[in-house]
Amino acid sequence: MRYLSLPKDEKNNTFVAQDVFDICVTMVKNPALRAQLEAISTDIKKAAICYDTDAAAKTLYLTPLTAKIRKVNGDELVKVYTLRMVPKKAKGRQIYDRILSAPVNGRCPFCGIGTVNTLDHFLPKTHFPVFSVTPNNLVPACTWCQGEKMEYFATTAGGQLLHPYFDNFDQDIWLAADVVKGSPAAFRYHVSPPAHWAVNDKARVAAHLKELNLGLLFSSNAGSRLAEIRGRLVKLHNLGKMNAVRSHLEEELASMEEECKNSWVAAMYRAAVASNWFCDGGFS
Ligand SMILES: [Zn+2]
Repeated sequence: MRYLSLPKDEKNNTFVAQDVFDICVTMVKNPALRAQLEAISTDIKKAAICYDTDAAAKTLYLTPLTAKIRKVNGDELVKVYTLRMVPKKAKGRQIYDRILSAPVNGRCPFCGIGTVNTLDHFLPKTHFPVFSVTPNNLVPACTWCQGEKMEYFATTAGGQLLHPYFDNFDQDIWLAADVVKGSPAAFRYHVSPPAHWAVNDKARVAAHLKELNLGLLFSSNAGSRLAEIRGRLVKLHNLGKMNAVRSHLEEELASMEEECKNSWVAAMYRAAVASNWFCDGGFS
């Protein structure tokens, strides 16, 4: 939902996956294990290069599952993340924090609503442990999105969630909402990508909404927003009826779309502007 540039270090260079892995494993105490991990450093590098190529080509769904790399099994690779990157005093923690703090205002790139408080493995580390500490596979996320996504990974092109570092779908409007008549009025979200989009891209935005259960999250936020703005809309309606309400909503919408065309709030305002019922007092 929100595009992010690739994770970068303090010198503004993109992270090199192999370097990150090497930093993380330097503190492994068991010499035999450390030697095994150091021996697969180039495998990590090669896998990361494939990852970038596939992500750019929108074919990450073809990535083979990893059970082990040479003598190192998946559990040990996952531990490179959980023991060598996540703990506050771990060697890789600086990198973790750097990636975590990238989004503007700490907004979760998956939903655009929640506050980032964790890193999500886009390809889940339990199935793809080779990417446990690959920076381009680590995406800042909020609790909602991580909780809904869990171990999800796509097995079809159309099932792929939007990857914040590789997919920028914000050139066109694709998120839509409908006003649900009632008291109070509500908003129901769906995708409505342009007809010229590729079939798989259309499927992907739908999968993104469905797998992260964003319809529910967006509707609940829209309900709260309506409660906040209702007083203002009532006043406008008293003064200038439907036209006054609509022109106010249009003005707000333009400002929101400038920030992000496919935010939940932009879709909410688009739906409100388009509804005569809503503008003519349905909001109250
Ligand atoms: Zn989120």
